[in-house]
Amino acid sequence: MFSGGIPIGRFFGIEVKLHWSWFIIFLWITWVLATDYFPSVDDYQDWSTATCWVIGSATSILFFVSVLAHELAHSLVAKAAGLKVSAITLFIFGGVSQLTEEPKSPSVEFRLAVAGPGTSLAIGAACWGIFFATRYSASPVVGMTFWLGYMNVILAAFNMIPGFPLDGGRVLRSLIWWRSRNLRRSTRIASIVGRGFGYLFIFGGIALVFISQYATGLSLVIVGWILENAAAGSYRQMALQDILRGHKVSEVMTQDCEVVPSTITLEQLVNDHILVSGRRCYSVVDFGRALGLVTSHDVRAVERKLWPVKTVREIMTPIDKMRQARPDDDLSSVMYLLMEQGVEQVPVLQDSNVVGIVWRDSLLTFVHLRSELGI
Ligand SMILES: [Zn+2]
Repeated sequence: MFSGGIPIGRFFGIEVKLHWSWFIIFLWITWVLATDYFPSVDDYQDWSTATCWVIGSATSILFFVSVLAHELAHSLVAKAAGLKVSAITLFIFGGVSQLTEEPKSPSVEFRLAVAGPGTSLAIGAACWGIFFATRYSASPVVGMTFWLGYMNVILAAFNMIPGFPLDGGRVLRSLIWWRSRNLRRSTRIASIVGRGFGYLFIFGGIALVFISQYATGLSLVIVGWILENAAAGSYRQMALQDILRGHKVSEVMTQDCEVVPSTITLEQLVNDHILVSGRRCYSVVDFGRALGLVTSHDVRAVERKLWPVKTVREIMTPIDKMRQARPDDDLSSVMYLLMEQGVEQVPVLQDSNVVGIVWRDSLLTFVHLRSELGI
């Protein structure tokens, strides 16, 4: 969902991106600040509309800087613990740090989780400190720091709800993991609590709608629904990672990749190879070098009457355009490729030779069998 986004720079070596949905929340918060919050403060009654919008935008930007600080805190703790962080993305519901691997111990998970809300609380306290020091002046700083302090405390409090995948859920998971030494069970419990909070929000929201609190009620329902989905989804993903852990690409790759030269026509490929051997994937090799892959799927996409004239080279997928794997790669990394890229197969290369293919359906069968057997 958040793989896209506009890169806005690198902070401490971590790429920061803005998802398109971020612009909606940015504009909404700026609008609320400029038309509702600042005009309601007694000291700011003489502000022009333009001033309200300028100060509103500045406050909104500072708020997203503090959201970014929250995510950077998570990411920096993760990096210090040797985990890879691919990017931080700001989107409609705040920010997300994209870790390509999970924490390896409960203590790393605990530190990683509390770093974000801890940072938000510290920023909130600093803002309220400035607010108290300047509160008798008519400076815009008073209104800005009061609101920023409030929002950062809310941010910390919401994230500390003990339901996975929220930060509080990670804290809960790390504590259960630390006591039980069982990561799968800890994730299950923390996700169930997360889903429970999701339902609580949904039912609370519905109750509010019944007493005519439509806006608040509806937002609660949406937040609850997102939380419930995220909790269920992250448990499924975790269970999947669990099944794949420790398994190598070589265990699921098929080695039935026959070699064909690039100059043969599709007609020759079909008559002399596909119909004879029944294989659906061919490695295109010239002078001992793998150039690409051609599948029965690629052939079918070409009009029948062109088969005698088109060569394999014209329809193959060049090897350097494909995401590749090596036989001793972790299966979870290939799963990521197949799901993220939406491709059907990943060629497995060793010393620039195609030694096998991982098909999406064979990987799914591998996962399916193991989850049915509970191993
Ligand atoms: Zn967080």
